[in-house]
Amino acid sequence: MPIPTTENQSDVVLVGAGIMSATLAVLLKELQPHLNIVIFEKLESAAEESSNAWNNAGTGHAALCELNYTPQRSDGSIDISKALEVNGEFDLSRQFWAYLVKQRAIKDPQSFIHPVPHCSFVRGSENVAFLKKRFQALSSHHAYREMEYSDDKKQIEEWFPLVMEGRNPAEIVAATRNRIGTDVDYGALTDDLLNSLSGKEGFSIHFSKRVQGLSRIGDGWSVQVRDEQTGAHRDVQAKFVFIGAGGGSLPLLQKSGIPEGHGYAGFPVSGIWLRCDNPAVASRHDAKVYGKASVGSPPMSVPHLDRRHVEGKISLLFGPYAGFSTKFLKHGSYLDLFGSIDPENILPMLAVGRDNVALTEYLIGQVLESQEQRFAALREYFPKANEADWKLEEAGQRVQIIKKDPTHGGILQFGTELVTAADGSLTAMLGASPGASTAVAVMIKVVERCFGEKLKNNSIWMRKMREMIPSYGHSLAQDAELLQRVRTETGAVLNINNVMVKELTAK
Ligand SMILES: Cc1cc2nc3c(=O)[nH]c(=O)nc-3n(C[C@H](O)[C@H](O)[C@H](O)COP(=O)(O)OP(=O)(O)OC[C@H]3O[C@@H](n4cnc5c(N)ncnc54)[C@H](O)[C@@H]3O)c2cc1C
Repeated sequence: MPIPTTENQSDVVLVGAGIMSATLAVLLKELQPHLNIVIFEKLESAAEESSNAWNNAGTGHAALCELNYTPQRSDGSIDISKALEVNGEFDLSRQFWAYLVKQRAIKDPQSFIHPVPHCSFVRGSENVAFLKKRFQALSSHHAYREMEYSDDKKQIEEWFPLVMEGRNPAEIVAATRNRIGTDVDYGALTDDLLNSLSGKEGFSIHFSKRVQGLSRIGDGWSVQVRDEQTGAHRDVQAKFVFIGAGGGSLPLLQKSGIPEGHGYAGFPVSGIWLRCDNPAVASRHDAKVYGKASVGSPPMSVPHLDRRHVEGKISLLFGPYAGFSTKFLKHGSYLDLFGSIDPENILPMLAVGRDNVALTEYLIGQVLESQEQRFAALREYFPKANEADWKLEEAGQRVQIIKKDPTHGGILQFGTELVTAADGSLTAMLGASPGASTAVAVMIKVVERCFGEKLKNNSIWMRKMREMIPSYGHSLAQDAELLQRVRTETGAVLNINNVMVKELTAK
């Protein structure tokens, strides 16, 4: 039986009802069913910020098509270490989701995931040479055995006709395709996860409840919550707090006052998509086609033309066109950025401003871009695109991490970072990349850091963790047989086996 708690006491408080908190809540409840968990969400429903389907690209990032995960070294060789890391993280997500489907906690995997080939597409001989080298480096590793390369225009046209039709025949192009790619509706997944907890003893979620502050109380926390509808306040005590508030995490981390959070700042990047819901067009593109980033652009603004599966319909999404807004959340305030400046982070912020002129210029350029220029960018990927089929869609807000750096004063970081109190009683998640795809890997890190003593040797938690994630504790990058087993099994359960198992075993 769960330990009875009063309304104002809980074992765990999670701030925000996006994919991160939802994943952590389900993980913790599986590991310890009697744990009391409360989620506070300031909006009226879950997944209305970055995790919403239309606020992100829905790519199941497994480093199959994103060229920024395979930088070229100065000697010309390709560094695939980051790609292998991201690739392995997505396999953790696949295992956890497959476990939940097998448990019937998620009834239908196609409520949130669909197979969509992940492709890279480049133009010009220099980029083609890079792509070929990248293909050679990746496909020699067992994690990428399904990857295909082609510089044959007919073949590429078969893979993604819309990108090739109407293209200048003299253009030098090449592409890779990986059919194990996926499109994920992270908003639907968040709802699936939270629905699986609904009615469970010791779990509750409260909407229109904004967490305004946090203060230490004994070896736990007092969480100050405001009812957004009535204006009423209440304090809730918790032994552990996870700040999974997306763009709202930084201000709350600052309010917690933990020394580990000193010096962090945020750099907000907004985004816009072009979206096409015309079934006659959308049904002809069965791929996510990623290109190369422009000079000075942040890695997450690489243009891509994606097939999306949202609410039973197929659409196309192109972008993102990055932009700059001082808001930290789509439903945030223009004062967010200014409110986050404090004596600890002002120098790192100034240093980042000084060292990232190309990025600033790029973002200003994107903000000033006309509709005509946006369509010109789309036509580089879809030459015959008809303007009438497309509409603008505002993307989610990303807050990139700025932190202190002994050499430069401050650095801008495009990844995800967990900031944890020394006693493990609080963790905040900052940053947004690779994002929702790696929610399971990141939340496992939270469990390891903050509940590490429960994960020892053959403990109940450890056994449960291995049941949920059979590869837990093993490196899939080093164990080809295990990876093959994991992919085959999770692919079958999630019904995303685009590449026939027979085809793979024959290789
Ligand atoms: C343009 C764009 C494209 C992306 N593309 C991809 C992609 O293709 N693949 C991928 O894997 N990831 C992608 N991402 C990243 C991904 O969307 C995020 O990493 C992920 O959704 C973050 O989830 P979260 O739960 O941390 O935050 P969110 O989903 O933003 O949830 C945070 C929640 O906290 C709530 N909140 C905030 N402050 C408070 C408060 N004080 N009190 C109570 N509640 C609060 C918010 O209302 C919100 O509901 C993309 C992001 C963007 C913006």
